[in-house]
Amino acid sequence: EEQRKYLMGKAKQPAVTTDGKEILVSANISRPTDMEKAVEYGCHGVGLYRTEFLFMESAQLPDEEKQVAAYRSVAQQAGGNLCVIRTLDIGADKQIDYFNLPHEENPAMGYRAIRICLDRTEIFKTQLRAIYRASYYGTIAIMFPMIISVNEVKKIKEIIAEVKAGLDADGIPYKDVELGIMIETPAAVMISDLLAKEVDFFSIGTNDLTQYTLAIDRQNPKLDNIYDSHHEAVLRMLKMVVDNGHKEGCWVGICGELGADETLTETFLRMGFDELSVSPSMILRIRDKIRNTDLSVK
Ligand code: PEP
Ligand code: MG
Repeated sequence: EEQRKYLMGKAKQPAVTTDGKEILVSANISRPTDMEKAVEYGCHGVGLYRTEFLFMESAQLPDEEKQVAAYRSVAQQAGGNLCVIRTLDIGADKQIDYFNLPHEENPAMGYRAIRICLDRTEIFKTQLRAIYRASYYGTIAIMFPMIISVNEVKKIKEIIAEVKAGLDADGIPYKDVELGIMIETPAAVMISDLLAKEVDFFSIGTNDLTQYTLAIDRQNPKLDNIYDSHHEAVLRMLKMVVDNGHKEGCWVGICGELGADETLTETFLRMGFDELSVSPSMILRIRDKIRNTDLSVK
């Protein structure tokens, strides 16, 4: 209770190290109602809005209006700070009955996330149209999950061009939004220099990146003892992504659980990350950790 009071007392202070380096701490949310706590704890906008929850909590596909209302609500509650909306990331551990996804032997490596969106493009276009419509009411960015190739990003951009043309034709206003991708496959890490030329930002999904790099199912409790989230392979990948992103002018964040690991906050600051996106319950602690870090001491 004492710690909670201490942290709440500092909720409005910026997340700056004692030697003056600022890093944005934003919120991972699953629904608009998560924003209340996130804002109370001083989040700098939203680093990951997992929109699949809107789809998982509906009995049928949420229509465009329902989606606009949800995305707009998040953007407005963020009060002008950036809100990164991630497009539908279903499949694998997130199943939705009305999608009738086929049974797969190996769903984590199967028909999921952007692969579904680039196949069922009508669903994807409706979501993009809703996000663009909501962009008018705040500062929105769009992020795509499970990217493995430059070609996927190019296809996404073609679809976005179609969606924008449709909005123009209908006279519906929208803003230009930043486009980013999740780096959560080893393939995306290894070609992050090429991907960086295509997008405005990277956000590293360490949950999936760790599972694919270590070949350890993130859902299998039997493997918990060897699931090493501090594995040198993962840490080297993080540094590589920051450097490749920055070379092309992208900002780079972490939105996987590792971003909330206080034992690594200083390491992330030294690597040069621009943003850490964490669950609302961790915002105050990570911000305090940053304020108590001094990067001038080696
Ligand atoms: C991740 O993989 O780290 C991530 C943030 O996405 P999700 O946990 O929703 O798969
Ligand atoms: Mg993921």
